[in-house]
Amino acid sequence: MLYQQRDHKWVYLFTEGRTEMKALLGGKGANVAEMTQAGLPVPPGFTITTEACNAYTQYENQFPEGMWSQAQTALAQVEADTGKQFGGNQNPLLVSVRSGAAISMPGMMDTVLNLGLNDETVEGLAQFTENRRFALDAYRRFIAMFGNIVMKVPHEKFSRALERFKLQTDSGRDTDLGEDHLDELINVYKRIIFTDRHGDEFPQDPFEQLRMAIAAVFDSWNTRRAVEYRRIHRIPDDLGTAVNVQVMVFGNMGWGSGTGVAFTRNPSNGDKEVFGEYLLNAQGEDVVAGLRTPKSIHEMVNELPESYQQLMGIIQRLEAHYRDMQDIEFTIEQGKLWILQTRTGKRTGAAAVTIAVDMVDEGVIDRETAVLRVEANQLDQLLHPTIDPDADATVVATGLPASPGAATGIVVLTPDDALVYSEQGHPIILVRHETSPDDFHGMAVAEAILTARGGMTSHAAVVARGMGTPCIVGADAIQISEEEGYFYTKEHKVRRGDWITIDGSTGSVLLGQVATKQPELGDHYLTLMGWADGMRQLGVRANADTGHDASVARNFGAEGIGLCRTEHMFFGDDRLAIMREMILAEDLAARQVALEKLLPIQRHDFLEIFKAMDGLPVTIRLLDPPLHEFLPNFEELQVELYELKLKTQQADTFAKIDQLLHQIWEKEQLLHRVEQLREANPMLGHRGCRLGLLYPEVTEMQTRAVMEAACEAQAQNIAVQPEIMIPLVSAETELRHQRAVVERVAEAVLGTYGMKLDYHIGTMIELPRAALMADRIAEHADFFSFGTNDLTQTTFGLSRDDSGRFLSHYVTEKLLTDDPFQVLDQNGVGQLVQLGVERGRQTKPALKVGICGEHGGEPRSIAFCQEVGLNYVSCSPYRVPIARLAAAQAALRQQKSA
Ligand code: PEP
Ligand code: MG
Repeated sequence: MLYQQRDHKWVYLFTEGRTEMKALLGGKGANVAEMTQAGLPVPPGFTITTEACNAYTQYENQFPEGMWSQAQTALAQVEADTGKQFGGNQNPLLVSVRSGAAISMPGMMDTVLNLGLNDETVEGLAQFTENRRFALDAYRRFIAMFGNIVMKVPHEKFSRALERFKLQTDSGRDTDLGEDHLDELINVYKRIIFTDRHGDEFPQDPFEQLRMAIAAVFDSWNTRRAVEYRRIHRIPDDLGTAVNVQVMVFGNMGWGSGTGVAFTRNPSNGDKEVFGEYLLNAQGEDVVAGLRTPKSIHEMVNELPESYQQLMGIIQRLEAHYRDMQDIEFTIEQGKLWILQTRTGKRTGAAAVTIAVDMVDEGVIDRETAVLRVEANQLDQLLHPTIDPDADATVVATGLPASPGAATGIVVLTPDDALVYSEQGHPIILVRHETSPDDFHGMAVAEAILTARGGMTSHAAVVARGMGTPCIVGADAIQISEEEGYFYTKEHKVRRGDWITIDGSTGSVLLGQVATKQPELGDHYLTLMGWADGMRQLGVRANADTGHDASVARNFGAEGIGLCRTEHMFFGDDRLAIMREMILAEDLAARQVALEKLLPIQRHDFLEIFKAMDGLPVTIRLLDPPLHEFLPNFEELQVELYELKLKTQQADTFAKIDQLLHQIWEKEQLLHRVEQLREANPMLGHRGCRLGLLYPEVTEMQTRAVMEAACEAQAQNIAVQPEIMIPLVSAETELRHQRAVVERVAEAVLGTYGMKLDYHIGTMIELPRAALMADRIAEHADFFSFGTNDLTQTTFGLSRDDSGRFLSHYVTEKLLTDDPFQVLDQNGVGQLVQLGVERGRQTKPALKVGICGEHGGEPRSIAFCQEVGLNYVSCSPYRVPIARLAAAQAALRQQKSA
């Protein structure tokens, strides 16, 4: 076992690491090592590996053999490099202890600063810096941080004590606390720990502090918020975190010191400008925690001009080196600039697109890299609605536009409420003073986030941008009363449960549900998508049932309709009545009468779709759902009948009785038919092609409607390519039968119109037997389209309608990695898809094959479609851009791995 190998290397000095060692040293450790070796001003230190973290977790939370002694040796080297002594009472070495996983999880795990301070070293620091106030301030911060993160004492206990002390000063700021206050506060903090931990003291031995802090960082890999973050961002649990132990530098050594964060480009919109914030006389936590509102980085040019110039130079160097936008943390200690870390900066979808395209134009990366670099799902943010500028809206407050997009929801004030209300199906907006990592579960379910405090790099802003959730921070006009359940401004009071709207692109908080508007896609987007289209092999179509949806899809770049669900056309009130008439018909003749009424309606709808898709293929699926879905509910009908009978008993005139008796008769007829059509398991009942088999007149009417619309379109010079698709086939005989009906009617229509046009007849493969029998089925099919919704349902034996209740539990408990209705189960259902493609093409090598289940718009499922050689994917209109980009990425990755 690794953890028993004493001589295994668990610890690397920054001078030993390399950027390629990310998996072992974590992103932060690898980058800090790289910067150290490039000669940048990085405070010295060392990294304890992710392997050590995994060994620790596996071995009952014990450090692996040899790790601690290697850490002590590395620390001795750092002492030698700096001339400071850890635990020394002259010129004490203080360190930060920070987590750093291979994949960045901003704000999710723990950091301890100023470690090494105790009652003696604090005096050493005071003497060395000739600033006792500073030393005491560092010490009180350390005790609170250590107490909270390592000893698990609630953070509020320390902040409440601090608030009490601040009240004793003239202007109430923490920088106003004098030495006496701080001395006293330190004792109060120690007592808080002692009481909360039932007699455990804050440890005075620096080595004990270090040992405990390292263990706490390892432990933080498995906190609720970290686990939740990994689940949402699909980061594997077994990566582990590295621990970086680094010499402290101080941004809070007076007004010639400061600390900040800088992005090499704007992470909200991608503009090529250094974007960042800093605070003078502060430590890093002050910027990130949003406790003080920081200044724009460019104001530094006046306050600390030399450091500013040097920082700008380093920023450029780092971006050029990593060839990507960087997120850099720095500290200035008494005029000397230190770079604490650099990492690839998180950005919004819009920024990702802009930066990728700009970097190609600048010659920094090639087009393939640009296309691969934008996460396909992130495009969703670009398609987000914005507030309709014509909408009448009352602005309650404004803040910083931290993450773009407009969202409406009801106000909640705590993360737990967020969870409760969202589980009840409410869209919610989480309103907080500021957020901390403990709020993550509430942030994850929010439509938008609003905070009263904090800057553009505060926790709320960073996390929201990462998730693509609209967010406003620093809306300082609002006051929040969590206990009372409302927030207020001078003019307004907004209660928990009230609706508000957030415009994360402008920073406006609006009262009520405000109308939103669809976005316009800019040049950068069009350029990137143009490149992607040139790189992909999969076609991208849309699932659309109306002319309007079809044109939306076409504007987003759809190359055809992959699925038109004709049943959706029957749901309007007037249409439903005719549909019911058709279903309730006693005999064929009566059914034909109703079908004749449906014919022009369908023909009109198809014509609209053909017009919208002029020149592109349109796949129209024949009626699929069980007929009773169009009829009233059986139990409700029974109640209505009972009520009618009651009324009859109470009626006082013959005319009334007569009228009611007639209504009763009608209701009984309906009830009788509904009862006849009732099925114990309708999903596996009389639906799909089974309807057309028993009622061929329905197939006939629908075929006529499609072909007549096609002929009329062609007569208007619209190019049409109709594809008629037979659903839920499991035997080739079913398809043969339905194909014969379709062909007969189609030819008859063409004869009547005296026209020729290309039409195709194909089938959905959405039952396991259809996949298995695909070679036989292909004899009668011009194309296949995988209905992976039903195929998932029937392969798993999981009801599409009922599994929502328990499937999330499977995912949380990791019994399944994903919900198989969202992400294609490649191992299981995927086998049937692959087999279906292979067998179909055994019979017809050029068989066109697509997918039209929900998975057709999901990037990982699209990659699978590329691997098994599908011709196209089809998805909802708004996912078309995502599918186009994902298809290009799938093709590029396949080429790379070939
Ligand atoms: C499917 O089953 O995947 C499909 C596209 O059809 P529907 O969702 O309409 O059943
Ligand atoms: Mg289906």
